[in-house]
Amino acid sequence: MRIGNGYDFHRLVAGRRLILGGVEIPYHLGLLGHSDADLLTHAITDALLGAACLGDIGQHFPPGNPQWQDVSSLLLLSKVLELVGGRGLRLSNVDAVVVAERPKLAPHILAIRQSLAGALGLPLDRLSVKATTNEGLGPVGEGLAMACHAVVLLEE
Ligand code: MG
Repeated sequence: MRIGNGYDFHRLVAGRRLILGGVEIPYHLGLLGHSDADLLTHAITDALLGAACLGDIGQHFPPGNPQWQDVSSLLLLSKVLELVGGRGLRLSNVDAVVVAERPKLAPHILAIRQSLAGALGLPLDRLSVKATTNEGLGPVGEGLAMACHAVVLLEE
């Protein structure tokens, strides 16, 4: 078995859609980034690459490359899943935690889990997404940014 961990952090700004796990969340701010800035999907993608010892998301999808501009991060995730599968590794489960002060994510967690489970070909009971706040502290606590941590387990 191989474990991998991923972390991501993006600023929240006006004029962007807020996408988490491929699901659009109604909010007046969105995450700033080159792709759709879906930091939950990015953290899981990086965890997959880490578990397979295949580098990181920035190496595979350079931010300056117009090919990845505003693209759905689920596409990047599926490309990495293919890469991992090609190494004879099968995804066993995912656990992620999104750190966000606002908006409240609880009402959206099931839709997000369903979206990611579908993208990864996992049953829902192997795809966990949790949400927490930063207790009002730091840039995440002040609502200026979001962060995400993810771990994945791969089986040979
Ligand atoms: Mg990112």
